[in-house]
Amino acid sequence: MDALLDNALNLVRRASKSLDLDKRFPGQSLSQRLEVPDKIIAFRLAVQRDDGSIKVFMGYRVQHSDALGIYKGGIRFNPDVDLDMVKALALLMTLKTAVVNIPYGGAKGGVPVNPSDLSVTETERLVRKYVHRLVNDIGPNIDVPAPDMGTSEREMAWFYDEYRKHRDIARGVVTGKPIDLGGSLGRTQATGRGVVCVMLDAARDLNLRDYKVAIQGFGKVGSHAARKLFEEGITVVAVGDITGSIANRHGIDVPALVEYVARTGGVKGFAEAEPIEDVLTAPCDVLLPCALENAIHEDNATKIQARLIVEGANGPTTPAADAILQDAGVVVAPDILANAGGVIVSYFEWVQNREGFYWEEDDVNARLFALLRKAYVDVRDYALKHKSSLREAAYQMAVEKICHAMMARGVQ
Ligand code: GLU
Repeated sequence: MDALLDNALNLVRRASKSLDLDKRFPGQSLSQRLEVPDKIIAFRLAVQRDDGSIKVFMGYRVQHSDALGIYKGGIRFNPDVDLDMVKALALLMTLKTAVVNIPYGGAKGGVPVNPSDLSVTETERLVRKYVHRLVNDIGPNIDVPAPDMGTSEREMAWFYDEYRKHRDIARGVVTGKPIDLGGSLGRTQATGRGVVCVMLDAARDLNLRDYKVAIQGFGKVGSHAARKLFEEGITVVAVGDITGSIANRHGIDVPALVEYVARTGGVKGFAEAEPIEDVLTAPCDVLLPCALENAIHEDNATKIQARLIVEGANGPTTPAADAILQDAGVVVAPDILANAGGVIVSYFEWVQNREGFYWEEDDVNARLFALLRKAYVDVRDYALKHKSSLREAAYQMAVEKICHAMMARGVQ
C-alpha cells in the first residue's frame, strides 16, 4: 500500500481508538465507514496529441465521504498519482473540511501525467475528457473539484467551460477559477496565507520572538506564504525547490526572489543568497514544508533545527519522523489544519457563485483568518486538554465530528 494512504489510515485508526468508537457506538462499523471511500471512479482517458497520435491515461476521482456535506477536493496532475494516493488525499480532504468547520465532505481526483510533457492544447483536451467522463458524478451540489498539484486556474477554466456544455447551472461545479469566470479574489494566495495565519498563532503560543523561517517549496503554497511573511515583517532565511536550496541569514528579499523565479523557473542561482545542501535542515526557528508528501522522514527528522513546523503540503511528515519530532519537543501544526486555507476560500468561491454576489479581497481574507484562527484554537485547546499532539487532536476532532454526522444521518 502507498505510504501516504497507510499513514493517513493509521492516524484515523488511532483517533478512532482514542475516541473509543467501537464501545461508544457498538455494531455501527464506524471505523470501516470512515476508512472505505463512498465511491471510487477510475476511467480511461484517450487524448489526441498534437501530432494526431492517441495517448491513453488513467483518470481517478475518489469520493471519500459526504457525511458533512457535498464532496470537495482538488485534481492532481502528477506522474506519481495512483489510486492509493488519490484515496489518501480524499480522506485528508474529509478530515480537513471537518477540522475547519466548512460544510463539505472530502474527495480528490488525479491523472498520472507529467504536465510538462503535454502542450497547452493537449492539456486542454485532457481536462475536457476528464470532465466528460465524470459529468454525472460531479456538480455544484454533488462534488466540486479544485486545483491541486499540477493544475491551476487555467485547467479550472476549461473544466468549468466543458461542464457548462452539459449543464445550465455550472459556475459552482469547480473552484479555483479565474476571476472573470466566477473565481474568488484571494483564492490563489489562500493556502499560503492560511499557513502563515496558523504559524503566527502557533508561534505566539510558543513565545517565539524575532523568529526566522525556512520554506520548502516555492510554488502555489510556498511562494504565497513567503510573500505574506514578508508583508508581516518576518524574516525568511532559507527557501528550497526542485532546482535547489538557498539561504541568507540576514533575510531573503522575497519580492526579488519571486521576480527571479518567474524569470528563471527556480530559486537556484539567486544572487542575494548562498546555495545550501537542504532547506529542511537549515538553521531556522520555524519550518514550512510546502512541497511534497513524505519530505520529512526518519533520516532527516533528527537534523531539523526548527522548533515549530507548519505543514503547507499534504502529508509531508512520515509517522516515524513525527515520533522523532515529538520526542525532540518540536511542535507540528498538521496539514489538515495548516493548509486548509485553500479549501476554505474554495468554499467562499462556491458561496459567491451561488449568491451571484462577489466579495472584496479584504472580506475574503478576514473571513479566512477568522475560520482558521477558530480552528487552530479549538485544536490547541483539545490538545492541551487531552495532552496530545496537535495532529492527534486535529484527527480526533475531525473523526468525532464525522462520526456524529454519520450517526445522526443513519445508515449511509
Ligand atoms: N487541493 C487543495 C487541497 O488539498 C484545495 C482543495 C479545494 O479547494 O477544494 O486542500
